[in-house]
Amino acid sequence: MSQRPARSLLPQSLIRRKRDGARLDAAELRALARGIAEGQWSEGQVAAFAMAVAFRGMGVAECVAFTEALRDSGQRLSWPDLPGPVLDKHSTGGDGDGVSLLLAPLLAACGAYVPMISGRGLGHTGGTLDKLESLPGYDVNPAPERLRAVLCEVGCAIVGQSADLVPADRRLYAVRNVTATVDVPALMVASILSKKLAGGAQALVLDVKTGSGAQLPDEVQARALADLLLRVAGGTGLRARAALSDMSQVLGRNAGNALELGAALDLLCGRGGCPRLRALSLALAGELLCLGGLAADAAAQGGASVAAGRVPIATAAQGGASVAAGRMPIATAAQGGASVAAGRMPIATANAGARLERALDSGAAAERFARMVAALGGPHDLLEHSAVHLPRAPVQHAVPALQIGYVTRMDVRALGLTVVALGGGRSYPEQEVDHAVGLAEVVGRGEAVTVGQPLAIVHARTASAAEAAVRAVQAAIEIGPEAPAPVELWHWYTPAAPPA
Ligand code: URA
Repeated sequence: MSQRPARSLLPQSLIRRKRDGARLDAAELRALARGIAEGQWSEGQVAAFAMAVAFRGMGVAECVAFTEALRDSGQRLSWPDLPGPVLDKHSTGGDGDGVSLLLAPLLAACGAYVPMISGRGLGHTGGTLDKLESLPGYDVNPAPERLRAVLCEVGCAIVGQSADLVPADRRLYAVRNVTATVDVPALMVASILSKKLAGGAQALVLDVKTGSGAQLPDEVQARALADLLLRVAGGTGLRARAALSDMSQVLGRNAGNALELGAALDLLCGRGGCPRLRALSLALAGELLCLGGLAADAAAQGGASVAAGRVPIATAAQGGASVAAGRMPIATAAQGGASVAAGRMPIATANAGARLERALDSGAAAERFARMVAALGGPHDLLEHSAVHLPRAPVQHAVPALQIGYVTRMDVRALGLTVVALGGGRSYPEQEVDHAVGLAEVVGRGEAVTVGQPLAIVHARTASAAEAAVRAVQAAIEIGPEAPAPVELWHWYTPAAPPA
């Protein structure tokens, strides 16, 4: 039998083959990932490869092999001794999206383990690490032993990507960022999933945003991304589900690092908070409890509709009344809560929504969050004195509505860029962020407003920065005579055919 001659693994050969539309095989992709990680590939070669993928794409099997090659380019974390499933979530990024800050402690309070490798703000969207660094002392780069200890003891640890976790992606991503190849689906999928796999996730929920504040605003493109994510995750053996969620308005009511952290703490501590943020966090966490075998039924299958910019309280999440009422006694906060609390219901048949409501309303999730913060170097009295620890900007200006009507449309990307311009995000990679600035109390789509009513409160460093932001927010929020049709907050994406 004649053997196929070995292909050249030189960078220029691999780039040429991709440029000409070939499907690269696993050996080629391994050589490529190794070459990028170890620096044998020049920056120009990495850029040429990324652009070749932008034009030629990748097949599903090829993208699976590429994901695995990136995953194996550095250290892989494993958690063999944990008594619960290792779960994780990825969001394609949005504004006011503090879901990770809620979801990780919620899952930990329900018996799961969440080593969440998070990122910094990207473009107009915020980053979980920047939000956590609003807290003095919080260490987003703990030594491996400390990370392991925090995860074992607390159940969740939200940290950054260490230098030896998926180093090929780290380098490729930096090149993509400056070569117009960030939004290339195959590169996005391999980048996202390789990090989750290297982090040791056993099940993953993907939150793919659509709408004006999403990286891929167009729903067709977002669905295609969700589809590829699920197929590639399936190909690597990772259990995953994907939600398509709305980013045509700021998800929570605050955008900006400390402001978003404060909003998450409000929800965790039963001080009210944004129902949309609460509902999506519970839905994604519920699905993860099911994927991880900790609950049988997520219950919150459909996306709550965001009529008048608000999730109707009764449908926002099971037991949604607690959004209005603050904390509730466990037995009434969630259906079945009493028997779960008494330990009579086997865990695997418990309703995920009920367990999560209980974790939130009892303060158990807040307690996990506070323990994680303390264990990673942050304040030890966060829940008691959050206002002391979170920085507050010196200037606050309300943004008056210029006409009466309903909020019909929001340019969420422009709102995110307003936060960046205030100093809350970056215009170049090494830039320091100002944790205190941002937008608070941003109105929701469909809300009725009168002339002069605040559309948001700008938190700024200087009066002139605040004035510029007021004008930018007014330009980004459209007010019309009729309420817009409600949008679904999220829905689960189901691939047309089973993942390959
Ligand atoms: N997040 C990632 O980690 N990679 C991407 O390519 C996009 C978002």
